[in-house]
Amino acid sequence: MAATIIDGKALAAKVRAEVADEVAELGHVGLATVLVGDDPASHVYINSKQKMATAAGIEAHDHRLPGDMSQDDLLAFIAELNADDSIDGLLVQLPLPDHIEEHTIIEAIDPAKDIDGIHPYNAGRLMMGRPTLVPATPRGIMRMLEEYEIELQGANAVVIGRSNIVGKPVALLLLQKDATVTICHSKTQDLAALAAQADILVAAIGRAKFVTGAMVKPGACVIDVGINRLPDGTLAGDVDYAAAREVAGWITPVPGGVGPMTIAMLLENCLKAANESAA
Ligand code: NDP
Repeated sequence: MAATIIDGKALAAKVRAEVADEVAELGHVGLATVLVGDDPASHVYINSKQKMATAAGIEAHDHRLPGDMSQDDLLAFIAELNADDSIDGLLVQLPLPDHIEEHTIIEAIDPAKDIDGIHPYNAGRLMMGRPTLVPATPRGIMRMLEEYEIELQGANAVVIGRSNIVGKPVALLLLQKDATVTICHSKTQDLAALAAQADILVAAIGRAKFVTGAMVKPGACVIDVGINRLPDGTLAGDVDYAAAREVAGWITPVPGGVGPMTIAMLLENCLKAANESAA
């Protein structure tokens, strides 16, 4: 039997509507996005974040800075946004140009405004199971699992990918929900066999159709984070969707799965930051 499709697009619309209601209630929520340079994909991401934020009633400031600006100038700019009380959430789009040290910039963001949840303060609190700003993609994944009532306690969860923004935080969140978590990466041995034992399989690799139907346990919940552009211009996830949906119990499509949830949860993070600064 074909899997239940987890409709990230519909759920994201619901989350955005909830955020919009709360933003209206709060009166003012301010977001600043910072994009350095002219990476085309980054411009597309920032455009959709700006558009969705504005639609939710968030006052969104869109800063596009030249790719040859110095690290010191960027640090000074971030310091200004940190000090600006009308800005609740501050997002610096990655990747940054090569001459700018990513970690230095991330660590310069006020942790209370770090709606990407990547400052070491927030990452550390997440590791300790303390309330904090958590990266949007992992939060979106957890929200989908909750909405579709996927049993997590005692479940075997396998996460493929160990990035700071997806793989590691989603593994920690699954662990918090009492799943037994295995994290796989490029040096993992017998990855296919590990994946095939997963009740929950999260693919965050960046390789089109890496997860085959044979790597999916019958009835498993498959979460496909990957966004890969194929030579014909279409998008594909990290999972061979056509094959996996015949085996899985639940599956997220690409597009229309994790992607829309990421932006929705980013807006929710911005609201959270605003609520906390108002408290
Ligand atoms: P990274 O490139 O930071 O991490 C990729 C991970 O995949 C690494 O841990 C790497 O292992 C692992 N990996 C690569 N090749 C293999 C392999 N052959 N076997 C096993 N593991 C492998 O990517 P991100 O986590 O940032 O993103 C992953 C994907 O998700 C990308 O397609 C990205 O575009 C997409 N994405 C989608 C989002 C959304 O909203 N839908 C949001 C963020 C990302 P190692 O550490 O050993 O190198």
